[in-house]
Amino acid sequence: MKVAAVLIPLPVDEPFDYVVPDDMALARGDLVTVPLGPRQMTGVVSEVREIPATNRRLKAIVARLDLPALPAATLDFLEWAARWTLSPPGEMAALSLKALRHAPPKPPLRLHRVAGKAPVRLTPARAAVLQALDEGPTVASAAELGRAAGVSAGVVKGLVDEGVITARPAETGNPLQAPDPHHARVELNPDQAEAAGQIGQAALSGEFVAFLLDGVTGSGKTEAYLEAVARLLEGYPQAQALILLPEIALTQAVIARITARFGAAPAEWHSGLTGPRRRQVWDAVVSGHCRIVVGARSALFLPFPNLRLIVVDEEHDGSYKQEDGLIYQGRDLAVARARFESAAVVLASATPSLETLGNARQGRYRELRLTARHGTAVLPDITLLDLRADPPEPQTWLSPPLRAAMAETLARGEQTLLFLNRRGYAPVVLCRACGHRMTAPDTDSWLVEHRYTGRLVCHLTGFSMARPDTCPSCGAKDSLVPVGPGVERVEEEVRSLFPEARTTIFSSDTTPDGRSARDLVEAMERGEIDILVATQAAAKGHNFPNLTLVGVVDADLGLRGGDLRAAERTFQLLMQATGRAGRAERPGRALLQTWTPEHPVLQALAAGDRDSFLATESEERRLAALPPFGRLAALILSGDKADAVEKAAQLLAGAIPNAERLEVYGPADAPLALVRGRRRKRLLVRADRDVDIQAFLRAWLARVKLPSSVRLSIDVDPYSF
Ligand code: ADP
Repeated sequence: MKVAAVLIPLPVDEPFDYVVPDDMALARGDLVTVPLGPRQMTGVVSEVREIPATNRRLKAIVARLDLPALPAATLDFLEWAARWTLSPPGEMAALSLKALRHAPPKPPLRLHRVAGKAPVRLTPARAAVLQALDEGPTVASAAELGRAAGVSAGVVKGLVDEGVITARPAETGNPLQAPDPHHARVELNPDQAEAAGQIGQAALSGEFVAFLLDGVTGSGKTEAYLEAVARLLEGYPQAQALILLPEIALTQAVIARITARFGAAPAEWHSGLTGPRRRQVWDAVVSGHCRIVVGARSALFLPFPNLRLIVVDEEHDGSYKQEDGLIYQGRDLAVARARFESAAVVLASATPSLETLGNARQGRYRELRLTARHGTAVLPDITLLDLRADPPEPQTWLSPPLRAAMAETLARGEQTLLFLNRRGYAPVVLCRACGHRMTAPDTDSWLVEHRYTGRLVCHLTGFSMARPDTCPSCGAKDSLVPVGPGVERVEEEVRSLFPEARTTIFSSDTTPDGRSARDLVEAMERGEIDILVATQAAAKGHNFPNLTLVGVVDADLGLRGGDLRAAERTFQLLMQATGRAGRAERPGRALLQTWTPEHPVLQALAAGDRDSFLATESEERRLAALPPFGRLAALILSGDKADAVEKAAQLLAGAIPNAERLEVYGPADAPLALVRGRRRKRLLVRADRDVDIQAFLRAWLARVKLPSSVRLSIDVDPYSF
């Protein structure tokens, strides 16, 4: 008999077997409905095989869905990704099928004449309606048709009631317009032309090639990869391209550019889409109609039949790392997906990650460099402001030199960006009477004061409460005070210093005046804002031609934690932030406030010496055999009861298999030891680069049976630790 192994979204390692009914033709990749207990689920056929009739009581497949099968390379990729991340393959496959829960949007109704049906009475008005219907463009409503025929809508309705005219769903065909590679071609500079040529050619070749596209902000990377997409579509009109971006705020600007470049909007894919729209894009992707998708990391799981080019823009960005549910590094999966598709992949950045640079230096990725900023724009001058010499007044955050520079910029009619990567008003709220710090009730974190909403918020879980008048610990009245600045507090200071300036906040919270990120970007571009106080939401991607001063309020902020990537991340973020200045003809400058101007990260920034910073940082990682020179994996155990979690951690620690060139550290409290009331413990594995860490983890986990009250999550490439 025939049996199909079907991947269904359950936390198990293997697909489930089902009998294939005799009259059902089924192959790998087909989507099916299968019974599971009393429920029915959607799954993907991983394998069909012939087995001798057994007495194993297998259930039968209920139906094959009337949808295109998952393309072979998509399914190969999903199964590989499950093995790589030690995730259940059915849950990984389900990432590709989420959109199927929704129906596509209903096509609009159109009026048509019913064949062979004549009206009982043919008045001149009715004749006019029928003539308008036969000759004119199709119309949606009785009123519209009436207008076209010069009669009332009632005449049309009469014909509908009689069954002479009927409303049918319109033939919408492809809901997405086809991009035109020639629509608005840009003359490229020689570096850009070389990059676009190489990428375009690789994408057309049908072989896997990975590129690092390295160039400072404003050097024209976006323009270069869009040209590569154009060359691909020119040479192979059925090809599909996927452009991944780290932030939705950034997406809008890039979407607008792509639309202008190709004369057609690309399909968007991110968490902000409605269910029906998701389904519409999914259908258009799997059928091959949709050529360009711009999306968040989850777009990696879309079923492209013809994917030839993947771009990962701002490849160093931490938001490519998925931290909940199935844990994965989107940038790495993008490279893997390109390999399965025999496609080209482009990792673009002004500050590439050490992983990517390492891969480029070792020849695994081809390196493309854009050396100059486009046109006359030059990189901003970066100056460190030593706060020990020029401190701000007590309870303020802007030092005299920064204030002076802002005043000059304002007087010249140019724009300033103040960068502080902290949402809200103050990161900590303290009781002056007893020293109590306001903490989240069920999570290991301080509550952040948000003054516009009058609430204290946990930035990890979203928990929030009204700001109390009395200290919950000692009961003192009006004793709670904010400690330290967030963007709201800096904005308050700016308003009091420069009351005439038009100042606003840009963060992922709704801005006080309710403007969306897109509105803010446009207002900034039109010069309607003088001073923008922003978190990292504005640090990258945008193009503000009149922005000539960037002030970094606290350049030491990211350097404090003892995290693996603290220095790298801070360098990247500050470089992105300072790169906002001087993008057009006017030169820009960046002032970084710091208490530790001697710090090597800040020294490298001020000297504009990215490569020496990366070399030093890379050498430190090499000596410690840490990524990218070694591999890490984190095992996090969590549960409601501290003792159960502790016991599970000990159980795991007692079952470590022997292995060479690999060490296990812990168990210890996880960096966030309490989240939403769950205790968290962590074991960390470090291995040499050529050790098969996944095989080790599998062997290890096979030795223990964890209690069901404790959850284990595995991160094969922790972003921070
Ligand atoms: P990056 O992606 O490296 O930050 P962009 O591609 O966004 O750089 O380019 C920066 C600015 O320069 C954009 O406004 C872009 O339209 C413009 N630009 C880039 N290359 C060209 C070109 N060859 N001709 C005209 N304008 C260009």
